[in-house]
Amino acid sequence: MFQEQVLLRIPGPTPLPPQVERAMNRPITGHRSGEFSRLFAETAERLKLVFQTQQDVLILAGSGTAGLEAAVCNVVSPGDKVLVLCGGNFGERFVKICKAYGANVLEVEASWGDPIDPELVAATLAEHPDVKAVFATHCETSTGVLHPIREIARRVQATAALLIVDAVSSLGAVDLPMDDWGLDIVVTGSQKALMLPPGLTFLALSERAWDVVANNRTPRFYFDLRAYKKQLQARTTPYTPAVSLLYGLDEVLKLIEAEGLPRIFDRHLLLQKMTRRAVQALELPLFTTDEAASPTVTSVGVCDFDVEKLRQALRTAFNLSVAGGQQHLKGQIFRIGHMGYCSPADVLQTIALLEVGLFQAGAPVALGRGVRAAQEVYLTHKEAVTHG
Ligand SMILES: *Cc1c(COP(=O)(O)O)cnc(C)c1O
Repeated sequence: MFQEQVLLRIPGPTPLPPQVERAMNRPITGHRSGEFSRLFAETAERLKLVFQTQQDVLILAGSGTAGLEAAVCNVVSPGDKVLVLCGGNFGERFVKICKAYGANVLEVEASWGDPIDPELVAATLAEHPDVKAVFATHCETSTGVLHPIREIARRVQATAALLIVDAVSSLGAVDLPMDDWGLDIVVTGSQKALMLPPGLTFLALSERAWDVVANNRTPRFYFDLRAYKKQLQARTTPYTPAVSLLYGLDEVLKLIEAEGLPRIFDRHLLLQKMTRRAVQALELPLFTTDEAASPTVTSVGVCDFDVEKLRQALRTAFNLSVAGGQQHLKGQIFRIGHMGYCSPADVLQTIALLEVGLFQAGAPVALGRGVRAAQEVYLTHKEAVTHG
């Protein structure tokens, strides 16, 4: 009966709004038709609002990692010195991609769960004035930390290096004004805050970044961003676009435009606070501080009960998925996603079910305490977040 009642509270992929699902069921049209060309060019234009940029936003078929790789291979030539800011699994991914393209990789590290220290970035850049690009993660999804990109950008701007930001699990949920903050490349994906299925990646580049792309020696073909920019001017793509996902994107942009970025950011802060206060009320440890926490995902841990048993109980009883830990945090922490198509009602449900799961997994739990804390946060939130 309830097989199709899927409660997906992992930090991506995330649930789809029904409007978006319906839009993606439209018949496929030829991607060189005038009608599709119009839809493509308009959605690309409207994405500028989400990126808070005047620059072109490029749309590629591929997962978020494809976008990260595109950023690397368009900017990095073999032997170039780059700096990767690394505080978790996705920071490490940037290190691996840069190494795969022959870069000479320096790292500024933060312990998993801590934010990157901008002063350390400044000091490293002062010591290595030949760094060509700095790679940073906005929300480090593996830990739930939101790294201080604005402060980092200020330090990088004082140098000749480009700043490339992985915003896959934050853009569209957390304020990241690309132009205002002087970010050179921002990369995101479809399946996190942007409420689409996996399969699209989006990139925007500053003028400075385009100059570097033009002079970069690394061989590239599908990921050559110059081809996407050129074809965008002709209102099309160099290769067959993911037509159905673009139907969905058109609908997603309507939802984002109707709610407005300020209210979207505020809603995610509310969801974050409801979740964090509930976790505290249940006397579970939070993995990050309030100051460092991302509005899109909350990490809980390290717990003294079997986290995998809890996740299994939630899946079995309610078809509710929460994420486990990655790498050395596997079995240690769990992560609750609250981004994209997620409302206060969803968080209240998740917390209520979490309490049942904790009980079933044999963890000490005072039933109702987390729900009550989340309700209190909701009721005292300064601006009503309604279901409209
Ligand atoms: C999800 C995610 C990615 C992209 O992963 P894919 O599986 O390739 O879509 C990249 N960076 C961060 C921070 C993410 O959360």
